[in-house]
Amino acid sequence: MGAPFEIIATGEADHCSEAIEAAFQEAARIEGLFTIYQPEAALARFNRADKKDPTFLEREVLEVLAEAVRYAGKSGGAFDPAAGRLVDLWGFGPGGEVKRQPSKLSVARTLQSSGYTYLNIDLESGCVRSSCESLHLNLGGIAKGYAIDRAVSVLKKYSIQRGWVSCGSTLYGFGKPHWRVAIQHPRDETAEIETLNFSDYALATSGDYERCFVEQGRRYSHLIDPRTGYPVSGMASVSVIAKTAMAADALSTAAFVLGVDHGQGLLETEPGVAGFLISEDKKGALQFHRTAGWSSFSVSCAQPVLSRRRFLKTAGMIAVGLMLPGGLMRPERSEAAKIRFTTEKEALARMIPEAGHFEIESVHLNDDQLSIAQQMAGKGFRKRTYDFWVGRKGEKVAGYALKLNVVGKKQPITFLIGIAPEGTVKGVEVLIYRESKGSEVRYQRFMKQFHQKTAEDPLRLGRDIRPISGATLSSRAAAYAVRKSLGLFEVVYKGAEPS
Ligand code: ADP
Ligand code: MG
Repeated sequence: MGAPFEIIATGEADHCSEAIEAAFQEAARIEGLFTIYQPEAALARFNRADKKDPTFLEREVLEVLAEAVRYAGKSGGAFDPAAGRLVDLWGFGPGGEVKRQPSKLSVARTLQSSGYTYLNIDLESGCVRSSCESLHLNLGGIAKGYAIDRAVSVLKKYSIQRGWVSCGSTLYGFGKPHWRVAIQHPRDETAEIETLNFSDYALATSGDYERCFVEQGRRYSHLIDPRTGYPVSGMASVSVIAKTAMAADALSTAAFVLGVDHGQGLLETEPGVAGFLISEDKKGALQFHRTAGWSSFSVSCAQPVLSRRRFLKTAGMIAVGLMLPGGLMRPERSEAAKIRFTTEKEALARMIPEAGHFEIESVHLNDDQLSIAQQMAGKGFRKRTYDFWVGRKGEKVAGYALKLNVVGKKQPITFLIGIAPEGTVKGVEVLIYRESKGSEVRYQRFMKQFHQKTAEDPLRLGRDIRPISGATLSSRAAAYAVRKSLGLFEVVYKGAEPS
């Protein structure tokens, strides 16, 4: 499903493990049913089939498809499970990434072979027909939600009183006490816009920031408007709360495509549904829109000021916003300025350009590993769980990367450290700087000093690494970030032992 599944159950440990295991199995079963990435799976079979003859599909697939078609009707085709060809054309389907705009002609052609109105679903006899020969189904906008609902029902069958199932940005939480969930800022992955408090509801967010490509400064997201054939523009994200994850999933995609006015209109007419829509104007400023029901789920909200244009001209900055600490949010003045130099995605692509794709690998250190890594970093630290990016070219690992927050003068600096499979530094970049003098520390002239260094190198400031004037603490932070990530890398991937 393109994102890790997370399941939480509370109660007696063994019983919870059993319930979670069964819920995972159910999710895997659903994935097998709805994938279009495996040639023998139901939808892939339909996509290949000669459409003049009926294709017989599993009842469950037909039911979800019928539900998807219902949402297609409600949204006037903004949500469309039969727009698979268009999703493919833009490089977000099984055909693989394309990363550039297709020609007008091919968009127009593909538009001809997409549309739910071509479909004829026959639940009685268990088959589906299409009057368009080349039509492709893609249930990517709804199947994840269905899988979550199914996993939840398994937990409940095991009498789990409080649980949580999530996959990517779709989730469901049930039981008391309520679940607290923060919504990510669509333009700053480290900031939260709003915190929600709910139970026995699902939440889904569709955004243009997780899967997209940028061509000539324009962002093309994976959410395609089936009515025009082009990726949606002017929307940054839509979050929807609904009674089922399937409804939240489909409606968030639908409202994203419909845009603020019609999207909000659709959400207002659905019973038990609330929505939060974020649009972006041509200057890059965000606007926030909430449906009437939304406030009853929200425990805190703040409208971060985000004006990208104003800062774009200054020394390589990409975005500036207000940092909103999690929980009950009251931005503190001293923490307010935050310079985002580059995104994690961009830095990864620069550091490990050979990698075709990146995956997160979560690692947890045991006592021994923690103390060895501390020794190598030359400083104590408590955190034991780290998310390493692993970049692969085919099956082969091309490099690793680790994001670390290291305290500079007063505030943490967010670094991304790239490491080659053999353990040499491949790159060091500053993602976010929270103090006044951010420029020196991001200069590659300074950062390049770390390249090719390994865990064996001492990296002493003033001796192995030339400090930067006026930002000594920042240089120290960078050197520490490099030592720490090399130490963690060695214990995790090289099985380093105490010297
Ligand atoms: P995600 O799966 O990333 O959480 P969504 O639930 O919004 O996001 O679904 C996005 C997926 O739905 C896309 O990757 C694509 O496969 C498919 N899709 C894109 N545009 C549409 C659309 N207009 N209607 C239905 N499905 C769509
Ligand atoms: Mg969706």
